[in-house]
Amino acid sequence: MSKTPIVKTSIVYIGLGSNLDRPVSQLQKAITALGQLPGTRVLADSGYYTSKPMGPEDQPDYYNAVVQIETSLLPHALLEQCQAIEHQQGRVKTRHWGERCIDVDILLYADQQISEPDLTIPHPGISQRDFVYKPLLKLHAEIEIPGEGLLAVLVEKKKGENPETGYDCSFAGTLE
Ligand code: AMP
Repeated sequence: MSKTPIVKTSIVYIGLGSNLDRPVSQLQKAITALGQLPGTRVLADSGYYTSKPMGPEDQPDYYNAVVQIETSLLPHALLEQCQAIEHQQGRVKTRHWGERCIDVDILLYADQQISEPDLTIPHPGISQRDFVYKPLLKLHAEIEIPGEGLLAVLVEKKKGENPETGYDCSFAGTLE
């Protein structure tokens, strides 16, 4: 009797953003590429949202999405693959927080907390950036940020501390 090897998988949330070169197809392309990574499948996507740019204001509005994946890739291997997807789609580094055809970030990796020079998980600022927490909460309203607590509670707390935060993020459509 042949045995199927048991491979540990983790649930991971990936944040995507684009404001150049047909942003919605950039998001779609990146999601397809994520689903083709070894030991990885896409479980759900948030649809896409539009938002005002964070950082320099003289750039186009952003299109953002969050996807939930299941993967056997470990965090650093997954980071490498996310960067490879950015590279394949022709991302060029411009100014800090500048325009980009695609940004692929690891938001949450199971219940892990990682603080290394090249990798911070949970991704910083999740509860202050509406273009991250809105699609994330749509996928999982009860989601917890490891070490911090329920995301929905953190968002309300941050809003109370600074009501001016936010990038006018709103739902804009479904992804194929
Ligand atoms: P960005 O300009 O958003 O693509 O940032 C890229 C840099 O952020 C890379 O040098 C990564 O090593 C670093 N980084 C740190 N934590 C993360 C994370 N959770 N997801 C993606 N990139 C990360």
